[in-house]
Amino acid sequence: MRVVLATHNPHKVEEFQGILGAALPELEIEPYDGPEPVEDGTSFDENALIKARAAAAHTGLPALADDSGICVDVLGGAPGIFSARWAGHGKGAVANLDLLLDQLADIADEHRGARFACHIAVVVPATAEKPAFEAVVSGSWPGRLARAAHGGGGFGYDPIFVPDGHDVSAAELTADEKNAISHRARAFEAAIPVLRMNVIPD
Ligand code: IMP
Repeated sequence: MRVVLATHNPHKVEEFQGILGAALPELEIEPYDGPEPVEDGTSFDENALIKARAAAAHTGLPALADDSGICVDVLGGAPGIFSARWAGHGKGAVANLDLLLDQLADIADEHRGARFACHIAVVVPATAEKPAFEAVVSGSWPGRLARAAHGGGGFGYDPIFVPDGHDVSAAELTADEKNAISHRARAFEAAIPVLRMNVIPD
């Protein structure tokens, strides 16, 4: 069953194929190479749906899209959907996490709660037999913000995120350790039954 993934990032295609393909061997995940929509949603759900709807409309295939970020309790859930550009467009991951550390400099350890969130949208165009279908599933990875960056693994905010149950940052976990418990792993797990029910033919 062909499914298009609304990303131009080949690593994401591999990751989705690796995890979802292991559970659902009938899935063949392809990258989407059509026009990119403006991501002007105000939530992870909306942005994931905007991307998946555009890919489904352009290709006529069932489409998946994810949207993720870090949500800090004391900032009311920010950076949230602005995670990739918290320090400004084109500033990059180190500037983003430095700004977050600076903003929380005076915040005590017990108030430094944060979580990574990953939302995955599934959009299936209508066929002669079935009406169109849309759903969004999510995964959350709770933890807290460290006071400085640690570790060289991972990407983005990993060096300043200490997952619950750990005393090292996400960037100090191995890729396998992170991939077993992350927000993305949890969202993938939630996506499997939705795909099985609504995308894989009976
Ligand atoms: P995207 O929606 O997957 O492109 O993620 C948006 C942004 O959220 C990334 O640019 C990162 O700043 C942040 N982010 C999402 N997932 C992770 C993660 O697993 N580790 C660190 N940062 C992440």
